[in-house]
Amino acid sequence: MSLTASSAPAHVAPEHALVPRIIPRAEHGISRKNISNGALRVLYRLHEAGYKAFLVGGAVRDLLLGGHPKDFDVATDATPEQTRALFRNCRLIGRRFRLAHVVFGREIVEVATFRGIGEVGDADRHVVDGRIVRDNVYGGIEEDAIRRDFTINALYYDIADFSVRDYVGGIEDLRQRRMHLIGDPVQRYREDPVRMLRAARLAAKLDLTLSAETEAPIAELAPLLADVAPARLFDESLKLFLAGHGLESLRQLHRLGLLGQLFPATAAALSGPNSVKFGRLLGYTFTSTDERIRNDMPVAPAFLFAAMLWEPVRSLAEKLVADGTDAGVAWTAAVDRILHQQASRVAIPKRFSIAMEEIWSMQSRFDQRQKKRVMRLLAHPRFRAAFDFLVLRSHDEPELKEQVAWWTDAQQLDGEHLSQRIAAASVTRAEGEPGKKRKRSRRRKPHAGSSAKDASVESASE
Ligand code: ATP
Ligand code: MG
Repeated sequence: MSLTASSAPAHVAPEHALVPRIIPRAEHGISRKNISNGALRVLYRLHEAGYKAFLVGGAVRDLLLGGHPKDFDVATDATPEQTRALFRNCRLIGRRFRLAHVVFGREIVEVATFRGIGEVGDADRHVVDGRIVRDNVYGGIEEDAIRRDFTINALYYDIADFSVRDYVGGIEDLRQRRMHLIGDPVQRYREDPVRMLRAARLAAKLDLTLSAETEAPIAELAPLLADVAPARLFDESLKLFLAGHGLESLRQLHRLGLLGQLFPATAAALSGPNSVKFGRLLGYTFTSTDERIRNDMPVAPAFLFAAMLWEPVRSLAEKLVADGTDAGVAWTAAVDRILHQQASRVAIPKRFSIAMEEIWSMQSRFDQRQKKRVMRLLAHPRFRAAFDFLVLRSHDEPELKEQVAWWTDAQQLDGEHLSQRIAAASVTRAEGEPGKKRKRSRRRKPHAGSSAKDASVESASE
């Protein structure tokens, strides 16, 4: 990063921030080489048509930090309709705030008209309980800047002269690698509680520190997240956990007291009796997910969520069994209860929660070696995810290592060799080598059709 030392005060109060600090091209490291073709075309076309055109937000921030932005946002004084008139490949979207999307093949450049502050009660701005629910007031660039969340997200790269404009002290904050919410933190979190999650996510993603004023109110205001739509929280959860910095996001959320708002059962289990072991399981899971993302390998959200809710389901089932519930019934009840509770916070789409249930229930099927069942398990669409989860569990549960080895082999053998292996194993078993499951089921009251679930509850216990 090549940033010059600030001559302006580090943290300018927004209402006085009308004079920007301008960093000329020679004094910052943003090169057009690192801006996407689509974004450059949009910027130039707007500029040539006489409008102001800036790259803004995360892209400017990431470029100044030397990173490679994944998407580029443009801010302009052209209205959405004026923007649309300039591009054939443009559509207008958004109800709360109208935006123009300019499409270049797979790239979408989002173009927003400068947003104004407006007065509460304006026809175009609607505030309920301190929260903005509709917002279509256009304004100048200064107002647009102070409406943004963090100072480091309110930097503007001007296509007219390639300078960067800073109205709120974002450059100095970037230089010091810290995050400041613009304006009064309590008010800004009340307006939009998701900003608390963005604080945790961006600190994790960019390895930044939250300023004391920005961090302090979070502990008390975290419960405001209960009023945010569960579908929006699901989107935020994906950005937190499935963007290559999931482990650090999880740590930040936990540290800031936000995890309990998104995944209450996970947060409770992380301070419950099995917390150390569960913490390690999440550590393995998130580390491997982050690595896969870094290596451009596919990741399944269901896998991650299954890991996050594994200990809650397992320990609740165990408790129900201790209270006298039949083990199979207990497992089903625990899954239902935990998923139901989760749905009221983060709306995990059905296709993922079904996959989570499958990953969980398959954990107990890895000790079954009858040919038909082996084949069925190997052919299951969720086999790979369930097996990968078994591998992660086995790091801390040595008794699972034999299963991991067996199924590792099974995946590599062709049909004929696998059949031979299964036949040989069944002879050994028939000769009386006591299988773990048989030993267990003798201790337990028999019940219909739940032996598989038994093993799952028990095999994960301490
Ligand atoms: P990422 O790198 O994850 O995309 P980002 O900062 O670009 O991070 P976006 O969600 O793409 O995040 O938002 C783009 C910009 O819009 C932000 O940089 C910020 O200026 C503004 N913004 C986004 N969400 C909010 C919010 N809740 N309140 C105020 N401003 C916001
Ligand atoms: Mg962005």
